[in-house]
Amino acid sequence: MELDAKAPGGPIETRWDRHRFNLKLVNPANKRKYTVIVVGTGLAGGSAAASLAELGYQVKCFCFQDSPRRAHSIAAQGGINAAKNYHNDGDSVYRLFYDTVKGGDFRAREANVYRLAQLSLNIIDQCVGQGVPFAREYSGYLDNRSFGGAQVSRTFYARGQTGQQLLLGAYQALERQIGAGQVEMHPRTEMLDLIVIDGRARGITTRDLITGKIESHLADAVVLGTGGYGNVYYLSTNAKGSNATAIWRAHKRGALLANPCFTQIHPTCIPVSGEYQSKLTLMSESLRNDGRVWVPAKKGDTRPPAQIPEAERDYYLERRYPSFGNLVPRDVASRNAKAVCDEGRGVGESGLAVYLDFRDAIERLGRHVILERYGNLFEMYERITGENPYQAPMRIYPAIHYTMGGLWVDYNLMSTIPGLYVIGEANFSDHGANRLGASALMQGLADGYFVLPNTISDYLASTKFEKVDLSHPAVREAETQVTSITKRLLETKGTRSVDSYHRELGKLMWEHCGMSRNAEGLRHALGTIPGLREQFWRDVRVLGTNEELNQSLEKAGRVADFFELAELMCLDALERNESCGGHFREEYQTPDGEAARDDEHYSYAAAWEFRGVGNPPALHKEPLGFEYVHPAQRSYK
Ligand SMILES: Cc1cc2nc3c(=O)[nH]c(=O)nc-3n(C[C@H](O)[C@H](O)[C@H](O)COP(=O)(O)OP(=O)(O)OC[C@H]3O[C@@H](n4cnc5c(N)ncnc54)[C@H](O)[C@@H]3O)c2cc1C
Repeated sequence: MELDAKAPGGPIETRWDRHRFNLKLVNPANKRKYTVIVVGTGLAGGSAAASLAELGYQVKCFCFQDSPRRAHSIAAQGGINAAKNYHNDGDSVYRLFYDTVKGGDFRAREANVYRLAQLSLNIIDQCVGQGVPFAREYSGYLDNRSFGGAQVSRTFYARGQTGQQLLLGAYQALERQIGAGQVEMHPRTEMLDLIVIDGRARGITTRDLITGKIESHLADAVVLGTGGYGNVYYLSTNAKGSNATAIWRAHKRGALLANPCFTQIHPTCIPVSGEYQSKLTLMSESLRNDGRVWVPAKKGDTRPPAQIPEAERDYYLERRYPSFGNLVPRDVASRNAKAVCDEGRGVGESGLAVYLDFRDAIERLGRHVILERYGNLFEMYERITGENPYQAPMRIYPAIHYTMGGLWVDYNLMSTIPGLYVIGEANFSDHGANRLGASALMQGLADGYFVLPNTISDYLASTKFEKVDLSHPAVREAETQVTSITKRLLETKGTRSVDSYHRELGKLMWEHCGMSRNAEGLRHALGTIPGLREQFWRDVRVLGTNEELNQSLEKAGRVADFFELAELMCLDALERNESCGGHFREEYQTPDGEAARDDEHYSYAAAWEFRGVGNPPALHKEPLGFEYVHPAQRSYK
């Protein structure tokens, strides 16, 4: 299969404008003749559904929560990047582009990243227009703070609740269109299959999560904004409901899945505290603006932090990376935390934690400033750990947080199935092998507010749509498939809970396809997953029935998909014999322990084609060219 990225050439500054000019338009009077399905109401799906409806398309929108405004995006804390250069500290569109390509360890498509940096400016204007209450300086200007991998302050924020405030903006725009009758909203409805007719995405099959009713919905195009798959690891910072089912089932219908092994480990999370924990909590990266990361200089030093004198502390990020200090990118900060803990210098009961210390910032700025900047995060930390971070340093450790991999999309955000678009965290597009902090919200909103509404018209205007109805054999086939999976899960009546399988899979993935990987561990995981998956199908115990709200059944379907996805992730990680960004293969590192890329052999996006469960998938490669930011060893020293 030839992967055509459709990325325009020529001067990078004008690529998006020229491309847009060449895209076909649907005239305003004709827009209402087209129906678009949008699955997802997070920042990507919510902004897309609202914008498409605003343009005049008929939109059907789906989410599994009880309200669109409960999408996982609401959890985002720290901020959203934009190259406004309000601080006059040297920022520009080009610098954001440069930082993102470099931060992603040269595994992203240049044209997409430049467009993202350009659109970052429009996003802030759009959100301010909606009334999003970004933090402001005394002068009235919007305030900015710094995030990892950047030496400028370009992160716009609303306390530690940026995702919530941005989502409220998108949600209001969506609600307006629901009220106007342009969007038909289906909450509590889970997409369980994609309907492909004559090679084109024409609809979805869903299950009503309250009544269990299986139904199909048809349209002229389908958009997936269904979020990331970090929960394949069981423990992650994602909302418990986040899952891979929509993209995985689209993958099984023919959409290629790219770079599945590129997962992001966030360096500052509250450490795991016990076997029965089901969720990890993020402490926003913004805290590294003022918090200093350290461990005792000596192994096995169990003194309370206040009793460890300055000379016996190792501020290892400031020591190793003097230019970026505590604001090195996430992959670098995470690996360093693991390294000091592996040396036996970790703190806390498990020894798997490092300190994030605000003592100096409180002394310098005063408690009230820290409270104003991070109050809700400090409160969250204290509620979970019982420790007061104004008095003692936080204990933090890396955890699974975000997935850079996802369905492969071209420059128009269309997958390899014509008419299937993928936006936000669900696609693989702009972050390469490591996403910079505060860039996911930027990407989701760029995709939803600005890119998709432009590119989808080209497809709609240039496609002749055959009339299809719900009696079409492809619709029947999808419904039969979905019904049989549900039935099988309910009828197995085995001995182990869904969660116990999920936990076992997650542990295996964390150990062998987590913060660092090696060929032996990946082979072990690849040897173990198929057996565990078969056992799951023979022995899982799903309580309740189909005709009721049944979270055990919902979870079972999602975990079944995680099993298949996990295998592909390990295969992808094994195939990529290099280290890049969040993909750290222990065999490939520089003498000082940094990721060693192999540009000669691996400068491509790995896009996998499904060939049946248990059959080896086919690998297709999209070569990556770098005309503007030339690949070099990433240095934050
Ligand atoms: C704790 C935390 C803090 C974060 N903080 C930041 C930050 O400060 N800055 C930043 O840039 N990024 C941050 N991120 C990352 C960012 O929040 C996410 O990448 C982003 O919000 C994803 O948005 P999305 O719209 O792609 O998906 P989501 O917000 O995950 O939305 C997915 C939507 O799809 C729906 N859906 C999924 N599957 C189905 C299905 N099968 N059927 C029907 N509906 C379905 C869901 O109901 C939901 O509406 C953070 C992430 C976490 C976990």
